[in-house]
Parts: sequence; structure tokens; C-alpha cells
Amino acid sequence: MLQMATKDEIRQFYHEEYTAKEIPDYITGNIHRREFAFDRIGKGPRDRYHQFNQLKYLERVIKAKMPYAAYSSVALYDNPTKREGWESAEFIVDVDAKDNPLRTCNCKEGMVCPHCLYEAKEIILHISDNLQEMGFKDIHYVYSGRGYHLRCQDKELMHSDSNIRSEIVNYIIAAQVPELEEGLQHFILPFGYSKVYTDWFKYTINHLQKDKLYPGLNRKLKLDVMKHKEQINQGQWGIVRGQIRPTRYDKLLVKIANLQQGLCDTKVSVDTKRILRLPSSLHYKVSMKCMAIKNIETFDPFSKAVPRFVDEKE
Ligand SMILES: [Zn+2]
Repeated sequence: MLQMATKDEIRQFYHEEYTAKEIPDYITGNIHRREFAFDRIGKGPRDRYHQFNQLKYLERVIKAKMPYAAYSSVALYDNPTKREGWESAEFIVDVDAKDNPLRTCNCKEGMVCPHCLYEAKEIILHISDNLQEMGFKDIHYVYSGRGYHLRCQDKELMHSDSNIRSEIVNYIIAAQVPELEEGLQHFILPFGYSKVYTDWFKYTINHLQKDKLYPGLNRKLKLDVMKHKEQINQGQWGIVRGQIRPTRYDKLLVKIANLQQGLCDTKVSVDTKRILRLPSSLHYKVSMKCMAIKNIETFDPFSKAVPRFVDEKE
């Protein structure tokens, strides 16, 4: 499992198994306003700017091209073939299991396993909670093949620009230290962004591994903070601050926020013209299906997103 598909297997998938019926309504409902793109040689989506007025034409083209990957824009345009007349775009959070800085498995770089895929789901659910706390409700999930996409379609967010999206994504993953009044740094409020930040902080601390390196977090500071895990889990920030010294504590807050910045691909969230892997298509690098998720709580990629050619091999 999770091996790269051969050209023959890709062909088999699109021949025997592919159906555009698995593309969710929120894409088929405005299909003519989206840009579609294909990766035909395994080197990225270079075949771009396609428009389809009907689902059956899209299906026909996908089955004929048998692409390494298929994509559709998160944006709606008047003219998708030129990406002109931008009307709105879904707000996306992209959590890729292989890029999660806090995964606790032993996967080699670029690889994924059931454990880190599970952790990717935990992260997308945590992010989703934070987005819902902000009042956003129209949220859909997609299993990307190697992680999860959250697609938010609340109207005000659909029409927002990159600056607002950037603020929102940094908020929901706690990528910045909360700004508190001088001298109050150690006192973190139990609501709003302070809560978002402290909840992620606890998650981060609880996922740090003794013998793993983390970008920007030196070993000594990491071991120091790991010693105070229990106190942090209990919210005793003042005590921790005193014990590891205020200046190091302040530094730690920044380092942890920086780590959290890597929980999702923020470039995807900010980009209002992004193309995103099309649910129903194959992620050939791991031989799994990218698919819309009905119930994320119970979703298990290994029972739902495995193409037939993989089942037949085992
Ligand atoms: Zn893993």
C-alpha cells in the first residue's frame, strides 16, 4: 500500500473504475465556472485552462487523458479558460501528512503511513473547530490521497481577498504569538485567540519527540519545555515562565508559533486562484483516491480510498 502507481495501473483505474459521479455537488453545480487542469506526464499540472459545461464531457476527457493527476480551480470565473472575471473562491486548508512538522511516526521524508494520515485528520478537525468558532459553517472535507483538504464556502469568505485569508489561516493554526499587554505575557486568556494559541501549544508540546529535530527549535529549549509538559497541559503558564526564565519563555512562544505555521500549507489558503486536486481522481504517488468525505469523524482512507488495482495486488 501507498506505493506509486505504474502507468498501467493509472490506465486501469481510469478505464475500469473512474466515475465523475464522485465529484461533489459544489463542483458539478458550477462546473462551467471553474478552471480544470491535468498532469499528463507526471511533472505537474501543465495542461491547464480547460472549461467544461457538462459533467459528461469532463468525464470523457479524464477517461481519455488518463492523467497522472487532475485538478479544478477553487475559484469561479466568468471565463475560466483565461482565468478572467474572478467572482469568488473557496477558502482552503491543505494538511499534507508528509509535511506535518509534528508527526510522531518514523516515516522517511516524503512518505506517509496510517499513523501520520491519522494525525493529519486530527489537525484538520482541530482547524475546523477553530474556523467554526469564528462563525463559519459551510465546511466540506476531501481526502487528498496523502492528507486532507478543508473547503469552506461561507459567502463572506468566498469573496475575501488574500490578506483576509492570510489573517484567518494564521489565526486558526496559531501561527503568531498572542499580543498581550506588557507584563501579562504569562497570563493567557481562556477565550478567543489566546485559547486557540494555548490549545495548539498543548498539542504541539504533546507531539514533540525527544530525538527528533524541529526547524527553528533548538534541542536544549525543546528538552526544557518537554520537562514542563504536565504543567503546560494544566495551564500553569506562570510557573513554567518562572522556571525556564521569562526571556527564554518569550522565545519559546515564538518558536512554537513558527512550528505551528507548518501545520498546513498556508500558501494554498491565501491563493484565490489555486487549482486543487479533483475529488474522484487518483493520487498516483500513493495509489489512493482523492475523494469527498461524507463523515469525517468516521472516515478511514484505508477502507474508502483504496483503488481496485491495489486491492487486487494484495
Ligand atoms: Zn508516517
